This record gives sequence, C-alpha cells and structure tokens, in this order.
Amino acid sequence: MIQRKIFRFGVLALIFLMPLGSFAQKGEKIQTIVIDAGHGGKDTGALGKLTTEKALNLAVALKFGNYIKENLPDVKVIYTRDKDKFVELSERAAIANRNNADVFISIHCNSTEGTTTANGAETFVMGESKNEKNLAVAKKENAAILLEDNTDAYDNFDPNSTEAYILFSLSQSLYQAQSLNIADKVQKQFAKKGRHDRGVQQAGFLVLWKTSMPSILVELGFINNAKEEEFLNSERGQTQMALALYRAFEEYKHEFESENHVSDKPKTSEKPAVVSGNSYYSVQFSTLNKKVPVTDPAFKGVKDVEVYNYKGAYRYTSGRFASKAEAEARQAQVRKLGYKDAFIIAFVNGERVSVKQAEEALKKK
Ligand SMILES: [Zn+2]
Repeated sequence: MIQRKIFRFGVLALIFLMPLGSFAQKGEKIQTIVIDAGHGGKDTGALGKLTTEKALNLAVALKFGNYIKENLPDVKVIYTRDKDKFVELSERAAIANRNNADVFISIHCNSTEGTTTANGAETFVMGESKNEKNLAVAKKENAAILLEDNTDAYDNFDPNSTEAYILFSLSQSLYQAQSLNIADKVQKQFAKKGRHDRGVQQAGFLVLWKTSMPSILVELGFINNAKEEEFLNSERGQTQMALALYRAFEEYKHEFESENHVSDKPKTSEKPAVVSGNSYYSVQFSTLNKKVPVTDPAFKGVKDVEVYNYKGAYRYTSGRFASKAEAEARQAQVRKLGYKDAFIIAFVNGERVSVKQAEEALKKK
C-alpha cells in the first residue's frame, strides 16, 4: 500500500515535470479500440484446474467488446482474436497499429510458482520492472514467442534473459502518461467490484512494445488459485471483470473527449483582467492528461488559474488579457514561478486560435 502511494506520487510528479506539448495525441476522439485476448491456439497460457488462461482471456475480452458495441456505438471494436487461435505477439501490436487504434488492451490471467494463494488483479504499462515479481510476470507472458515460428520481429529478444529486459527500459512509450491513466482507471474499477487491488505496475511486455497508442496489459486474477479460478470461470466473475474494463474505458473516452472548454468563471478570488467577451490572450503554463482543481497546490502563486480541454489534454492558463502586452507581463511572472515554458495563447469567440490569428481578429474590432 505504501509502495502504491509512493508510486502514485511518482506518477504525479512525472506528469507535472512533463514539458509542455509533450503529450502525444492520436486525435480528438476515441474511435477504435483493439482488445487483445492473450494466448490462444497452441499457446494455452497459464493452466488452472478447471480451464485455461486462453479461454478465460477470450471470454472476458468478448464480453468487454460487446459492452462497448452496445453502449458506445461510435467506437469500432477490433479483436486480435475472437476465437481459439494462435496469434503472434508482434501481430497483435501490428493489428492495433494498422487500424490506427486509440487504445490497446491486452487481457491475461496470472499464475504463480510454488504458491496457490496469490489473488487479485493488476494492470501493467510498458516500463522498467521495479521488482522481481513484475519481471516474472513479463517473462511468463513474453514466453509466448517461444512458440512462434519466426521471431525476427523481436530483435533476437530472449524472453528468459533478465538482461534482455534492460532493452525495454530504453524504449519508453510516448503514450506512457495516458497508459498509466487508463491503467489507474481499470484498477479503480476492479477495486469497486471488490477485487483485491494489486495496483498499477510496469514491466517490459513484447505485446505492448511496438504499439503506437496508449496500451495496457491486464492480469485479471490468479488461475492457479482455486478460488480465483472459480470466480474467473463463472458467468458472474467474467461479467464483473468485463464491466469493470468497460467502465474504465468509457471514463477514459469521456475524459479524453471533453469538449474544448474554457471555464466560465475563474475560481480564484482575484478578479481577472478585463477582456472583451470570449476573445482574449492568456498564458498557458501547464498541460496534464488529468483534470486537477485550479486551486491545486502545485499551481501555488499562479494567478487566475483556469483550465480548458484541447485535443484531449487539460491545459492550465493564467489570466485573460485584452492585449498581447498584458499577457506578456503575466507570462514573465508565471515563468518566474518556475513554469519556464509558459507561453501565450489566444481565444477568439471562445475558440483557441493562434496568436497571429487573434492579433488580426482583435485588430478589426
Ligand atoms: Zn497471459
């Protein structure tokens, strides 16, 4: 639990330290999801007493996809497999890339050596494994390539070699912040369903390696724990897990697509600089993929903080100014507070436009 808190803090710190404009965006809408049921065909995945990992992964994947089809008709659902079929790990990522997917979710079940009491769900994003346990999960899942005929796609990667995983620490995804965001939502939903929350973790997974979109790998539970297997093998258990995934995805989609919005009233006590209607200059000093209150302690000292959503990320601004010169004065103040990349933005009739466009539009008035 303490570890989790430290991790969370780390994530937050990471998000705040991200340079402006570093958020990779796929587009303004979440239109395509690739759902990847782990293993399949000759690759059974982990074995339980009642069933196989590949069967549980597929059952939950199909249910999850159906919830999306029923409730979010604007989303295209693509499965890497919709039956008991072997699919190479590299092909799974390629399917997502070819289809320009906005989100990739790989579904698995865990299993432990020696003990049969481990329980709960955890979600991984691509990253350096911080402990042996996470490394072991990645090794187990990556071992699927040992069943592939042609492994050229993995640059001679040996899934059993600990050294090979160092490679992964060098290939951090552009989409890591967004992947962490989705992973966090998934874990929260699992916890809501009463599942033991093992948290958001990082490790090097070949299936996530080459995806060029936010991507996560979910471990639903432990198939070698009799109680967990019974739950995951039941209609009720599969429905709960699929629903949790659906709710997390829906929440992410909603958050991502929140319309470009400028809050009506600044929430600080100070009056904003006078501007004419919805056309003004402002100073943007921070971009986050998560909405935080404008009174967040991290913004201490910044005046007239407001937030608007643009291209899927939350952008934090200071002040509304009728002239560019006033905005420049504020920019200097904000930069002194440590936001060295703070820059001037402009709105005309509530629409975010370039400063140049604003200068032209406001001159005419
Ligand atoms: Zn697996």
